[in-house]
Amino acid sequence: MKNFFLLVAGVALLAALIAGRALSKSETYQTFGTLVPRVEVSERVVALTFDDGPTARHTPAVLDALSKADVTATFYLNGQPASQEPETLKAIVTAGHEIGNHAWHHDRLVLITPWRARRGITQTDAAIRASGYDGPITFRPPYGAKLVVLPWVLSRMERVTVTWDVAPEDWGNLDEPAGALAARTIAQVRPGSIIILHPMFDSGASTRAAIPLIIAGLQAEGYIFVSVSELLARRGDPM
Ligand SMILES: [Zn+2]
Repeated sequence: MKNFFLLVAGVALLAALIAGRALSKSETYQTFGTLVPRVEVSERVVALTFDDGPTARHTPAVLDALSKADVTATFYLNGQPASQEPETLKAIVTAGHEIGNHAWHHDRLVLITPWRARRGITQTDAAIRASGYDGPITFRPPYGAKLVVLPWVLSRMERVTVTWDVAPEDWGNLDEPAGALAARTIAQVRPGSIIILHPMFDSGASTRAAIPLIIAGLQAEGYIFVSVSELLARRGDPM
């Protein structure tokens, strides 16, 4: 009988762990606060977002592609590299792009104290503001991982959490042709979509090459590129 109860307890614990893990990775569910994976609109507007960095090595190519296409994007930056690369951060800001907060380090923020979570977010805001950036700063958790503590801190800070609905899994496949990556991305976009791309590291070569193709392909379908805060404004919710 005792063994039976141990078995039941074990199964219940396992189920709770699996459910917790699924929740923490969900792009559409958050335990507290506002989480936006996409905005419900009928117009063909789309937000292009870039995660991580910034890196001095690869930011210029991204900015160049955006400038040539005259497109505004949103960069979710980590506070530590942003503070270590002030010139790179400044170049993104000067080019007129929106900056988002992607936490201080690129750690999973699932098992974290409220104090540490808040400090990382505040420090990253300060690093972004040090560049002279005065636009809105939404938050995106590293790996999309959130669960209870972080969403609670964000809701107390009245911060909107922005994830994505179009993730072409562009990381780490150096051999993928840019055309295939662009086609896969374009096929997933709907009005109000938020695209996530990872162009900041050496592993992002295909991504960087795909940026002009994604922009041209979506523009050919009548899409207009807007920043995340412009997209959120169309929903009428407070930032
Ligand atoms: Zn990231």
